[in-house]
Amino acid sequence: MTMSQTLKANETADVVIIGGGVIGLTIARALALRGLSDVLLLDRSSLGTESSYAAGGMLAPQAEADRADDFFQLASQSRDRYPIFAAALLDETGTDIELDTTGTLYLALTEKDEEEIEQRFQWQSQAGLTLEKLTATEARRREPGIAANIRGALYFPLDIQVENRRLLTALIAANEQLGVRLIAGTSVTSVKIQQGGVTGVETTRGFVSSRRVVIAGGAWSSLLAASEDSHQRLPRVRIEPVRGQMICFTAQPPLLRHVIYSPRGYVVPRRDGRLLAGSTTEHAGFTRQVTASGLHAILSHALEIAPALGALPIVDSWAGLRPRAEDDMPVLGPAEITGLVYATGHYRNGILLAPITGELIAEAIVNNAVSPLLSRFSPHRFDLVDVV
Ligand SMILES: Cc1cc2nc3c(=O)[nH]c(=O)nc-3n(C[C@H](O)[C@H](O)[C@H](O)COP(=O)(O)OP(=O)(O)OC[C@H]3O[C@@H](n4cnc5c(N)ncnc54)[C@H](O)[C@@H]3O)c2cc1C
Repeated sequence: MTMSQTLKANETADVVIIGGGVIGLTIARALALRGLSDVLLLDRSSLGTESSYAAGGMLAPQAEADRADDFFQLASQSRDRYPIFAAALLDETGTDIELDTTGTLYLALTEKDEEEIEQRFQWQSQAGLTLEKLTATEARRREPGIAANIRGALYFPLDIQVENRRLLTALIAANEQLGVRLIAGTSVTSVKIQQGGVTGVETTRGFVSSRRVVIAGGAWSSLLAASEDSHQRLPRVRIEPVRGQMICFTAQPPLLRHVIYSPRGYVVPRRDGRLLAGSTTEHAGFTRQVTASGLHAILSHALEIAPALGALPIVDSWAGLRPRAEDDMPVLGPAEITGLVYATGHYRNGILLAPITGELIAEAIVNNAVSPLLSRFSPHRFDLVDVV
């Protein structure tokens, strides 16, 4: 995605955001909406072209959770903010982010799958969550394109989906209108710290002076260090890239209406007839290659869900790098270094978690108010290290 602004000499900002994925862009907009007039967002490549672009756009905490823990609360609250978030972005930019509220089906295809969905049904109904258990016939009546041999399904009406690429377009436009400075092609090389507080960032195009810095660099977040003259340590926030590959079919007329999961894969129908199938979970470093074995695994899981996919043309495939912290949990909130704020490690759920991340991180910065919802995800849970 394009961006024309450049960095000036002796640049300053109220807040510098490192990273222009869904997380950095959502935080920038939330800060500007709260009245901050001098927000600067820097991205080493193009805005919105990394993990956030590669994602499936599923907003599905119930289809993914095994228990109602703190993460589930955060994710569900973020999902439930999406209708207002989508309406606000439409109002601000005219871009429809295609929030699709048809809901999600979770299929059981084996005996083990049946046990798994029964467990999920039990804990979620005991927790008072909205879901339905369907027989195979009921599920196929709602979604005739799914496999004839399914054994049953769960239906999650509140687990929905968004067109994440349109979301990125809308966020960029909203930030531009709000006067946020978005600068691509500029890598932050280190964070400068003096007397226990942030004083700015070193970039490939010079120094930017700022007392508040947000690390939203996705899978690259822990490549950042404190600058050599800082004499200060950064928290030991280790983020690793976890590659996910994706295949895109096209179906005219549409083959499926719901987002559909099995325990092994998922398919996501888009409004324009595209059908995404995912994914893989690979520890392969920073390479975004699509591989034969990745595609093979995705295809076999997708065709298990809907054998009719086998006759559709494949129009695209890609991979993205999910940002994963050591404990799989996002890293959110102020560090002990004054002015340094983390918003990274969103792993499989960065699109889902974007609205609540934007809101709570902006409130932590503008009002100095850290929500109790963030305490489990604080960077304080990691030790301090010198240079990462
Ligand atoms: C195949 C796949 C499917 C997925 N499906 C879903 C889904 O259905 N639902 C969901 O909620 N999530 C999903 N995810 C996860 C989601 O995509 C991520 O959690 C989310 O995109 C993370 O957003 P981010 O802004 O942190 O990272 P990114 O989008 O990767 O953005 C980080 C940005 O920071 C920039 N950057 C990094 N370091 C620096 C630096 N030093 N200086 C300047 N810029 C820097 C990068 O260039 C990049 O643009 C999926 C991911 C993949 C790969």
